[in-house]
Amino acid sequence: MSRIAEIALPCPLRQTFDYLINPSSLEIKIGSRVKVPFGSREIIGFVVSITEEKDPADLERLKKVIYCLDPAPIISKALFELIHWTSHYYHHPIGDCYQVALPKKIRSGEPNTLKTVNAWSLVKQKKTALRFGKKQQEIIHFLDQSDQAISQKDLYEQLGSCRSTLLNLLEKGVIEQHEDIKKPAIETNLIPLKILNSEQSHTVKDIWNNKSSFNVSLIQGITGSGKTEVYIQLTAEMLAENRQVLILIPEIGLTEQFVARFKQHLSAKIVVINSSMNETDRHQAWLLAQSGHADIVIGTRSAVFTPLDNLGLIIIDEEHDSSYKQQDSLRYHARNVALMRAKQADIPIVLGSATPSLESFYRAQSQQYRLLTLTQRATGAVLPEVMLVDSRGPKAVNGLSTVLYKAIEAELAKDNQVLLFINKRGYAPVLMCHDCQWQASCPDCDAKMIIHQGRYQLRCHHCGFNQALIKNCPECESADLGHYGVGTEQIEQSLQTLFPAVPVLRIDRDTTQKVGAFAKLVSEIQQGGAKILVGTQMLAKGHDFHDVTLVGVLDADQGLFSADFRATEVLAQLIIQVTGRAGRGEKSGRVYIQSSQTEHPFWQQLLHHGYSEIAAALLAERKGSLMPPVGSLCVIRARGKAQVLSLDFLTEVAGLLNQGHQNAVLVLGPVPAMMEKRAGYFRAQLLLTTQNRKILHQLLDHHMPAISSLKSSRKVKWSIDIDPIDLM
Ligand code: ADP
Ligand code: ZN
Ligand code: ZN
Repeated sequence: MSRIAEIALPCPLRQTFDYLINPSSLEIKIGSRVKVPFGSREIIGFVVSITEEKDPADLERLKKVIYCLDPAPIISKALFELIHWTSHYYHHPIGDCYQVALPKKIRSGEPNTLKTVNAWSLVKQKKTALRFGKKQQEIIHFLDQSDQAISQKDLYEQLGSCRSTLLNLLEKGVIEQHEDIKKPAIETNLIPLKILNSEQSHTVKDIWNNKSSFNVSLIQGITGSGKTEVYIQLTAEMLAENRQVLILIPEIGLTEQFVARFKQHLSAKIVVINSSMNETDRHQAWLLAQSGHADIVIGTRSAVFTPLDNLGLIIIDEEHDSSYKQQDSLRYHARNVALMRAKQADIPIVLGSATPSLESFYRAQSQQYRLLTLTQRATGAVLPEVMLVDSRGPKAVNGLSTVLYKAIEAELAKDNQVLLFINKRGYAPVLMCHDCQWQASCPDCDAKMIIHQGRYQLRCHHCGFNQALIKNCPECESADLGHYGVGTEQIEQSLQTLFPAVPVLRIDRDTTQKVGAFAKLVSEIQQGGAKILVGTQMLAKGHDFHDVTLVGVLDADQGLFSADFRATEVLAQLIIQVTGRAGRGEKSGRVYIQSSQTEHPFWQQLLHHGYSEIAAALLAERKGSLMPPVGSLCVIRARGKAQVLSLDFLTEVAGLLNQGHQNAVLVLGPVPAMMEKRAGYFRAQLLLTTQNRKILHQLLDHHMPAISSLKSSRKVKWSIDIDPIDLM
C-alpha cells in the first residue's frame, strides 16, 4: 500500500503539500523532517499527517519524498499539536508557523545532535603502585576531587595546557576520556530559599494545591511584593518532583538578573532561550530542553514553543506586557499560546503582574482564573509617593521642569540614584524651518524624521531610513532650522550640562544594540557607577535597582490622547511599573510625573486609587463598548504600492465576509491605517468585531480559500491579526 505524507513547507501559501513516501522509509512519521522537491529546489518540510493510498490517479501525479532527516520525529506530539493549534487560531499558514516556532538550525536540516566537549576522569580502581611525575600527580589530584568527568577546558584553565601528559596517563590506563554533552552549569554555593511572608506562602500553597491539572492562577502583586520569590519557590517544588518549568519574561535585558536569582537558590540546569542568541546557541539550548537536560527554561516570547516533554508548570512574568504579542508574520500572543500549552499538557500556569492585563483581570473576575494578591513590598519598603508636576510651569531646561530639577539636585546631594523616563529616543522628534515651516519627514512613511545628534543624522523610527543632518532648509535654504520636542539624547546632554560632575547613563535602543550592552549598563547601575539614568520604557520593566530614590516621567501625556482603545490601560500599566522602580531598597522613594494635563481625570484616578480600581473602571468602559476582553476583534490588514490596491482587496474581502448576511460578526471598513504610508507601502485595514469568537473563527475558516485566491490579493501583502493589541 502506498503512503502519502502531507507536508508543511516553508512558503507563504495557505496549504500543505502531498508527497509519496518510499515504501522502505518506515521512519517517516508525523513530526518528521523530510527533504522534498519543490519547484526547481529541494527543501525541508515537516510531516503533518500520513494517509494510506488515495485515488491511483493521484499517485501518478505526486512527487516523492527524497529522504527523512531523522530516525525519529523531531517534534513531539505535544509540540506538534501546539503549533497546529496556533496556526488554526491565528489563521496563519502552517508552514510559516513552523518557521516561527522552531530554531533556524532545525528548519535548515542541521543534525539533531547536541554538541559534546572533551572531558576526563580517573579510572578509580587503577590507583596502583605506578609512579607519577609532578604534572601527572597534579592532574590525578585534580580529577580525584570530582565524581564527574572534568572538561578539558576546565582542566587547562586550572593546570595549564597539558595534552601530552593527559595522553600519557590515558595510555597507562589511569584516566579515561569522555565526550560529554555541554550541560548548563549548576551553582554549587546555594543560598537557602527566603522565608516567605504570609501572603507569599499562601500564594505558593494555593498554587501548589492545584498542581496536578490545568488551572490558571493570576498573581496580582505590587512591584517589589516578592512575585519572583514566589516563582522561585514554586519552581523548587516542581523540580523536586522531577518536572520541568518554563518561565517567560518580557524583555531580553531582564534575563541575566532573572537567571541569577534562580541559580543562586536552586540546584538546577537552567537554559536560556531568546532572540539575541546566535543560531548555534539557540539550537543547542533547544536540544538541551528537548533531551531533558534542562530543568528550567527562561526565555522571551518565542520560548513558549520550547520542546519540554516533562513540563510541569508554566510561569509568565509581567503577563500584561505587550512584548508577548508578535507584531509581524505569525501574530501570536505568547500568553495565549502558553495557556493553550498548559491546557494541552494538563498542567498549572501562573500569570504574574503588578498591573494585570484587562484580559486576565476580566477572567479573574469571572472566576476562570484564581486571583492571588500580594499587597505589601516584601522587604518592608513602602511604595513611593507620587506627585504630578505641571510641565507648563518654569523649566530648568527643555523637557525638564524646575520642580523636577530641584528634586534631582536634592537626591544627588544625598548620593542617591535618579531615574528619568522619556519615551522618545534620539535628540528631538521634529526638525523645522522657522522661515517656511518645512518639517523633516520620511520620504517613505507618514512620519517625521527624528534628530539623532550623536550620529549627526535624521532617522525614521518606522522604516529605518536615515540621512545626514542638514544645516539648511531644503525648501527655502534658510539656515534658521529649529528642533522641537525632546528625546533621550537631549535630556542626557542637558543633564550633563546641569550636573557636570555627575555620571549620566542613557539606556535606549540606540545604546543597547550590541549583544551584552544592556547587561553591562544594568550592572553599572547596580554598582552605583551611574547616578542619573535616562531611558525609554525598556528600563521600566522588572529591574531591581536598590539605590534609586527618585523617578521622573518626562512625557507622560502621550497616552492620554491616543486614539487607540488600549492607550489608557497601557499608560496606567507603564506609570505603575515605572513608579515601582523607586524606593525598592532601604531608602524610600518619590515619583514625579510631568504632565501638561494635571487636571485630567486619569491622573486623579491614578494618584488616588490603586490599579484594581483603574482596571475595573476601564473594564466597565470596555463592557459598554463591547471591546476586548468582552468582545473579540480581528484586523485584516493590507498594504500595496498604491492605496487603491489595498482598499480594493479589502473591499472584496468585506464583500465575501458579509455574503450570507451574517450578523454575528460586524465588518467595519476598509479604512486607511492611522499611519497610511509606511516604508513605501500604503496601508489599509478591515476591522471585525464580535461577541462570538467561535463564529468569527468559523467565518474566517470558511472564507479563507476564497480570500486567498482573490485576484486582488496578489497585488498586496495582507495579514490577519487575531486579538490585535492595537488598531493603528
Ligand atoms: P517582584 O518580583 O514582585 O517585583 P521580588 O521577588 O523581586 O518582587 O522581591 C522584591 C525584593 O524583595 C527583592 O529584593 C527580594 O529579594 C525581596 N524579597 C522577596 N521576598 C522576600 C521575603 N520573603 N523575605 C525577604 N525579602 C524578600
Ligand atoms: Zn524653509
Ligand atoms: Zn520611514
